[in-house]
Amino acid sequence: MSAVSGLVPGRPIGSVPSLLPCTVCCTESQFQDGFADIRLFRCPSCKHCFTDFSSLEEEEQYGPEYFQEVHKNWFEHPDLRLFEQIYGMIVGNRPGASVLDIGCGKGNLLRYLRRRDPELQLAGIDVAANDSGDGIEFLHGDFLTWKFDRKFDAVVSLQVIEHMTDPRIFAQRASELCREGSLVIVSTVNEQSLVYDIGRLAARFLGSKHIYERLYSRHHLNHFNISSLRRLFEGTGMKVKKHFRHEVPIAAMDIPAPNKPAELILRAGVWGCFALGDLTGRTMYQTIVCLK
Ligand SMILES: [Zn+2]
Repeated sequence: MSAVSGLVPGRPIGSVPSLLPCTVCCTESQFQDGFADIRLFRCPSCKHCFTDFSSLEEEEQYGPEYFQEVHKNWFEHPDLRLFEQIYGMIVGNRPGASVLDIGCGKGNLLRYLRRRDPELQLAGIDVAANDSGDGIEFLHGDFLTWKFDRKFDAVVSLQVIEHMTDPRIFAQRASELCREGSLVIVSTVNEQSLVYDIGRLAARFLGSKHIYERLYSRHHLNHFNISSLRRLFEGTGMKVKKHFRHEVPIAAMDIPAPNKPAELILRAGVWGCFALGDLTGRTMYQTIVCLK
């Protein structure tokens, strides 16, 4: 890991936080923009964008309403195409693998893997509780501090790392929980996507900040680009085996809007962005597969 001694990622340097160490590579990063209590910084080296979490007046909460209301669509419309890809990679690397899903939410991926393959040994951990059953062990707690009694053949985490204050610790811990020859599969947002482009352009040239403020809200603290995600995992000593860009089912998108017609317009816009994103490679999501 390329740490600069004395710098703590995401924490202010000195009393005025106009400079912060990059949460990926620790390079000193300049304040770039802000709104409300969100202060965004961009790394001059890896171009990673991150939020100064010390400026947040409140942090995102992950209680039942997060799953049942705020991200209702996301959890009701899982990305089965990605799930099937992940299944293929896990059993292709090690049949009958033990799998840990970090931030497993309601356990959609684990339940899919169970239906797909009764031989897999499945565990998930989340700050929200789930009932264990059907051969899936659900752990209730914080992945970073949980005392695991074993290592795994595959560690998977979908759309979680962007919520972390220190993604370097997250990546290191994911690597430590793997046996040699095991896989770490992590999916997150892609800041080099059409949706982000449009959000930034609309805010800058049209004065319309709805999409921009939604994308850069407190919900996500780290906005990975293709190279910053790769750099983060290469920094753990793991080998990047595969790195691909993709979208998610449109139905999975939770789009806050003042009324139904506005929501339909926004949803059509997202559909257009996703279709163009697939064509141009500027997709909203990216997934990296690393071999320990
Ligand atoms: Zn950086």
